[in-house]
Amino acid sequence: MENLSCGQVIALLSFYIDEKLNSNLMKNIEYHLNTCSFCRNKYMQLRKIYDNYADIKSRIEEDNDEYIVDDAIYRNQQYEFFKENLSAYIDNELKTEDNLRVKKAAIINPIARTELKNMLLFQQTLHMAFQKTKNNLKKDFSGGIICKIRDSLPKFNVNSDLSAWDKLINMLSNFLKSRGIFSNGK
Ligand SMILES: [Zn+2]
Repeated sequence: MENLSCGQVIALLSFYIDEKLNSNLMKNIEYHLNTCSFCRNKYMQLRKIYDNYADIKSRIEEDNDEYIVDDAIYRNQQYEFFKENLSAYIDNELKTEDNLRVKKAAIINPIARTELKNMLLFQQTLHMAFQKTKNNLKKDFSGGIICKIRDSLPKFNVNSDLSAWDKLINMLSNFLKSRGIFSNGK
């Protein structure tokens, strides 16, 4: 079994979690995680972020199922206003009266309420994940390390230069975009 360094293992963790590595490398990392508590901790941190993301995604899908039955009546003008102004509302950029209109929509309209809840949940999770791991991840998953690993393991094929952190942020923002919560170009 080839011995990987902690730096190599940590730089490969996100690919390990995605099971994007060849079986030999997967086994080597698994072996390292079983024997190194430092890397195991990093692994568990990252795993938690991924799991939170999956959990939130499935909760949103459940919510969608609930209101799919009879939601046409709620997709009214009030909802359209809510939808248009949601991200400005979250960022606290609305005039007082518009701010109240969005609040009112969220109280009266169950679809709007669900979307606001999801949006806040996402923001909160993103914020928490960011605060908790910002410094560690930035250090551990910097593009430089990824490039170094790639160069030292010629068989290992990294198909992008994104760090794990950028990847995670992209994943979340793409998901928000796909739900129409972020408008294009924002
Ligand atoms: Zn280690």
